Amino acid sequence: MLPPGSTIGILGGGQLGRMLAMAAMQLGYRCLGYAPPGDNVAADACADFFENGWGDRQALAAFAAKCDVVTWEFENVPLSAVAAIPANLLACPTRALEVAQDRLNEKGFIAQLGGRSAPYARVESDEDYARAIATVGTPGILKTARDGYDGKGQWRIASEREASGVRFPGKPCIYEGLVAFEAEFSVILVRSTAGELRFWDSTANHHEGGMLAQSLLPAGALIEAQVPAARALAAKTAQALGYVGVLTLEFFATKDGPVFNEMAPRVHNSGHWTIEGAATSQFENHIRAICGLPLGGTATRFASIDMRNIVGADALTAHSILSEPGEPHLHLYGKREAREGRKMGHVTRVGQALR
Ligand code: AMP
Repeated sequence: MLPPGSTIGILGGGQLGRMLAMAAMQLGYRCLGYAPPGDNVAADACADFFENGWGDRQALAAFAAKCDVVTWEFENVPLSAVAAIPANLLACPTRALEVAQDRLNEKGFIAQLGGRSAPYARVESDEDYARAIATVGTPGILKTARDGYDGKGQWRIASEREASGVRFPGKPCIYEGLVAFEAEFSVILVRSTAGELRFWDSTANHHEGGMLAQSLLPAGALIEAQVPAARALAAKTAQALGYVGVLTLEFFATKDGPVFNEMAPRVHNSGHWTIEGAATSQFENHIRAICGLPLGGTATRFASIDMRNIVGADALTAHSILSEPGEPHLHLYGKREAREGRKMGHVTRVGQALR
């Protein structure tokens, strides 16, 4: 167990790091952030923050020298940067990052564990692209294999005719058949250093333009029926990776059962409701897990929960939400610029308390 006053290093400087640092502070820890220069909103909640490039080995060594444990809030931290941190400080094996950074690796890994994904093909050239359209068929989505998030680096292809209008973007991609899903959900779990696993309830997730817009509980009968199989796959994934902390797997609920979409080796937007809505939040349990503290309960505290993201300029008037009935819980991330399509905050509305 890391004693109070210890320092947790967080790689990445976004809102997830900010909320992790807030949870860590409550438990008597101090956080040290590290990310390249930018709008690093995690810095507000950290005792100190390194704004240095991922390639700056000297800065990474200086950062690591001040940490008692190191975690990440962003799955695209370059592996070379993580390799510059002494392995004994890393809370979780880097294999989780290696797998999750590449959509092809991720799908291969999940298939080995018996999970089902959308039909897909690797695309590394114009010829591959033409072959992928022919074998996987349309409609489908061309996605960059690496570095995509919130619908970025994705091109929807409705028909073979439309396929010719989209050019192979010159970097490794995956072409996926479009899954005819009924709903979307995620499994969020926490795994301790001793291998104990706990799961939060799965919300129904609604996306707009490839980005999460809303998470709802109850999630509905279809999702509830598919959660056990999805949890079994998520548990196998966490065990196979020797994972420590919060891990998220996203699924499509189809007529034929859950289809794996992607994983995030970190706390997740679809778990923000757990701050007020669960006995222990995803942020606090991640900190507890990586510090060797006992895990907290994950039970849902309310009969209904509605988490909505606040995107772009909506953040500028978001304080008006505070006068709405029902005591909404508003979270703003302190980002300097309310750019279109940028996650600026979220609001969680809860229903009747559960006994
Ligand atoms: P991703 O970045 O892969 O999570 O994709 C973002 C969102 O786009 C998903 O949550 C879905 O709403 C949609 N999407 C992505 N891939 C597929 C697919 N193969 N079939 C249907 N919808 C998809």
